[in-house]
This record gives sequence, C-alpha cells and structure tokens, in this order.
Amino acid sequence: MKILISEIPDEGLDIENEENIESDSIRSPVQIELRIDKVGTEVMIRGNLTAKADLQCSRCATDFHSLLTIPVDAVYHPVEELKGDENHEVESDALNIDFYTGDELDIHILVHEQVMLALPMKPLCSDICKGICPECGTDLNTGTCTCSTHTVDPRLEVLKKYFPE
Ligand SMILES: [Zn+2]
Ligand SMILES: [Zn+2]
Repeated sequence: MKILISEIPDEGLDIENEENIESDSIRSPVQIELRIDKVGTEVMIRGNLTAKADLQCSRCATDFHSLLTIPVDAVYHPVEELKGDENHEVESDALNIDFYTGDELDIHILVHEQVMLALPMKPLCSDICKGICPECGTDLNTGTCTCSTHTVDPRLEVLKKYFPE
C-alpha cells in the first residue's frame, strides 16, 4: 500500500487496512490502524499494527502463536533533504526519522520493518518454559527424566557427602 504525500489532506488520514508481508513467522495479514499527518514536508505516522506470529520456542521447540501489538510512531522527511545538508544527517541519527522518495511513501516497507523488529529473537512459549533436557531430549514441560540428577551444580556436589542417601 502506497501513500501519495500530496494527497494527504490537511486534516490527516486514517488508515485501516491489512498488509501481507513476506515472513515465515507471519502467515496471516498484518492489521493496520494508522493515522497519517502532514506538516509541511514532514509526514508523521502513528498508530498500531497487529500481527499474528507463528513462532517456535527457543527452549523446547514447540510451535506456538503470539499476537503482537506493535505501536508505530514514525516521522518521514523527503530524502532530498539529506543531500548536501549535514545538519539533517546528524538529526536523522539522533531521532527516529525515515525518508520518503518523491511523492510516495510505502506503508508496506514500514509495516515490514516494524513487524520484523517486533519479532522476538528468542521466542519463549512461556516465561516458565523448562526447555528440553540437553542429555536425553525429554521435553521437561510435559515429562521428567533422570538426567537432571546427574547434573548437580558443582557447588552443591560438595554438600552431597554431608547428606548420604
Ligand atoms: Zn517452550
Ligand atoms: Zn534427560
């Protein structure tokens, strides 16, 4: 979905839409609710994206779904402002400023970037996921194994002799 900058009305633009993005983790369309305002050449985009992510737990390898709600607060400037003006480069490093080219702003790129940033690097099916036993491969959320008795913390190993079984 592309926005023509010159067609953004003075009173702003409300967008409710869906956007498909190319990702193994995001297989259903991302829901878009954005407000677009223009002040001079500056374009401000605020709102929320909602994406259903298919993730795999980094501890136990279980597939699970996660509903991501992603707040958007982005400011766009025309890319022409960058050329030959060092002040703007400094400014763009300091603030979260993106750039548009010509009269066109591609919402698809914004959505794709924001969703990719929001995807967890190490997804967890649950904060208390116990993971998989590194020795026998048992899923410790659903089962137990005897390996855990072998992997006693070495600092506790010392105590063992005081408590004979
Ligand atoms: Zn897990
Ligand atoms: Zn085990």
